[in-house]
Amino acid sequence: MQKLKQMEQELGVMEQKNLLRQLQTMEPVNPSHVLIDGQEYLLMASNNYLGLTHHPFVKAAAASAAEQYGTGSGGARLTSGNHSGYEALETELAQLKQTEAALVFNTGYMANVGTISALANANDVIFSDELNHASIIDGCRLSKARTIVFHHSDMAHLDKLLKNTPCNGQRLIVTDGVFSMDGDIARLDEIVMLGEKYDSLIMVDDAHATGVIGPGGRGTAAYYGVSDKVQIEIGTLSKSLAAEGGFVAGSHLLIHYLMNRARSFIFSTALSAATIAAARAALQVLIAEPKRVEILNTKATMLKKELLAAGLPVLASETPIIPLLIGDAAQTLAFSRTLYDAGLIVSAIRPPTVPAGSSRLRLTVTAAHSSRDLAKASGIIIHAAKKAGLI
Ligand SMILES: *Cc1c(COP(=O)(O)O)cnc(C)c1O
Repeated sequence: MQKLKQMEQELGVMEQKNLLRQLQTMEPVNPSHVLIDGQEYLLMASNNYLGLTHHPFVKAAAASAAEQYGTGSGGARLTSGNHSGYEALETELAQLKQTEAALVFNTGYMANVGTISALANANDVIFSDELNHASIIDGCRLSKARTIVFHHSDMAHLDKLLKNTPCNGQRLIVTDGVFSMDGDIARLDEIVMLGEKYDSLIMVDDAHATGVIGPGGRGTAAYYGVSDKVQIEIGTLSKSLAAEGGFVAGSHLLIHYLMNRARSFIFSTALSAATIAAARAALQVLIAEPKRVEILNTKATMLKKELLAAGLPVLASETPIIPLLIGDAAQTLAFSRTLYDAGLIVSAIRPPTVPAGSSRLRLTVTAAHSSRDLAKASGIIIHAAKKAGLI
């Protein structure tokens, strides 16, 4: 079997290049600690930004929904799976994003893939930031539209491409709100101006922005005060909102259209009542206690400053995502293993997630990390970096 041989070879090459990925089982103890083989580790690799996965109110909401409505939803939203929590959650998400309506998908990945492929057709042109998330890239690939990639957050380049690319249909500019591997914020205010200049729709993916930036954690459009000029806002329930699922916020027309045209929405079984209840409860906590967003960012800034002061190669992140640029994949992997041996879990991010030569460690701070956790993390990192000759 030629294919099987080829698969084996491919994996061998990946291993040689230190690009092989492996699953690691861990048991969450709380938002900031996990057990592996009975041993406790400090976790700085989750997107659980507000630490709400273990909040008593959120857990109770999920448990009580499972008790009342059972577990699996049993059908797609358009058949029998549209249980009552969905509509309430969509109303609440639309309020958070200050849009007319919202539509929940099963994952953020599916929200991006379904939305882009439904909206962009053969005559249309998509302008996509080069560091956009894989789910945006896959949505572009699945659409019939031509996709033009602009240099990361380079507005002059985007302007030039918009000007020079003929388009008989609709232009769509799509960007992450907060870039997932760099932690910087898209220049959405300028993108909106270019959108107006070239009659382009604007789509922003707030997976790492909702609950993290903007007043009350409302995301990137709110951060810049351009909510009324961004037609398509994507979010996820899986990061700050302590559940799983993705969503699109926008006009009634957009939502009605996607409900009828987005295949990842139509042809997949709805989320369980417990998942929706968890997301609703987390959203309620976010709205009632916006201070959590501030606390999160204060903690992240503290750790960033400490690592920078020690001479570590911290990229210019504006959010709780803290990338330490190492460059080489093998070195990055080795460094993450040293940290692991010292009791700290961070992500080793390698190609194809990031461009070749820009492998990095990615730390994420959550509101649940205590000052002691942060001090422990920086202590371990600085000690390991000195030993590795990085600083
Ligand atoms: C995590 C992420 C997604 C996917 O969301 P899921 O709910 O995990 O499927 C989409 N876009 C960005 C920028 C992300 O970071």
